[in-house]
Amino acid sequence: MPCPFCKIIQREAPAKILYRDQQVTAFHDSHPVAPVHILIVPNRHILSVNDLEDEDELLIGHLFTVARALARQEGIDKNGYRLIVNTGAHGGQTVFHLHMHLIGGQRMRHPIG
Ligand code: 5GP
Ligand code: ZN
Repeated sequence: MPCPFCKIIQREAPAKILYRDQQVTAFHDSHPVAPVHILIVPNRHILSVNDLEDEDELLIGHLFTVARALARQEGIDKNGYRLIVNTGAHGGQTVFHLHMHLIGGQRMRHPIG
């Protein structure tokens, strides 16, 4: 089955893209769980955190700085937000292309599940 996030990154599938550069693409989640729900995704197909290489440390850091910028842009930086990277079956990962959720716009409960 083709990867849905690779299709979005390659513009073969529609998505509301908020940001893109050489390394990452950010777009609205198709099933938002809060007023702001954005996915920040490496352009390279990395299955999960388990598949990261040591050389990916800069890329992973970049996911955070893009998240910071988008939180500011969406106006949720002051009130706060949640960043989530689900990994594997127990982590609740459903799309096996590494992604960071940026979720905010309402107060979150903890833990989730
Ligand atoms: P996971 O459970 O793997 O951490 O999160 C996958 C997320 O991707 C879910 O929140 C789901 O709503 C979102 N998603 C799945 N397929 C698509 C898609 O084709 N387009 C967009 N924009 N979001 C998707
Ligand atoms: Zn992919």
